[in-house]
Amino acid sequence: MTASTVVAKKIVKEIKVEIDKCTGCRACEMACSAFHARPRFSSINPARARIRVVVDEINDEYVPIRAGDYTPSECNGRHIYKIGGKEYSECSFCGASCPSRDYFREPDSGLPLKCDMCESIPPLEKPWCVQACLPGALTYIEREETREPRPQEKRAELEGGLESLVNKFGQDALIEALSKMTKGH
Ligand code: SF4
Ligand code: SF4
Repeated sequence: MTASTVVAKKIVKEIKVEIDKCTGCRACEMACSAFHARPRFSSINPARARIRVVVDEINDEYVPIRAGDYTPSECNGRHIYKIGGKEYSECSFCGASCPSRDYFREPDSGLPLKCDMCESIPPLEKPWCVQACLPGALTYIEREETREPRPQEKRAELEGGLESLVNKFGQDALIEALSKMTKGH
């Protein structure tokens, strides 16, 4: 194993939300629920969508949020965010399904729903909610992320390096060289 194989890289999939472009049409909810219906596209039920649009028509606020992780308890965050002259509650931006609200629960079973970025085989070019959003409030983004190797990955790299040295020079020669090095310190 070489150092270059240990550097962990992954593709991070994101959806950028521009709330000032959202009209509250809810096409994203319908597209998501249709894609996740069984059989696929057999029904449309926004209550089964993994994206919900928080709508406050009086204050002209529309915030699409995607379902994240389930949380069994309410948080204590009750902040108000003022953006562009409008006031949004903290819940407007939260993707959790929690006891405070009935978002992101499968209507029949009550089980939590979570956005899976429309994982499918073959992969989609863009998730369905993005494709359905004609006003352009949702934009699909892919970016590569690298991260530092974890301790167990570093250890595996070290062991792989030692093994190749043993194969090349022999165990005795390696021990002798290491012994000289440690004495020199
Ligand atoms: S990415 Fe797919 S699963 Fe996630 S909210 Fe959009 S349509 Fe639903
Ligand atoms: S489809 Fe786009 S504009 Fe319509 S509600 Fe969803 S995010 Fe907003």
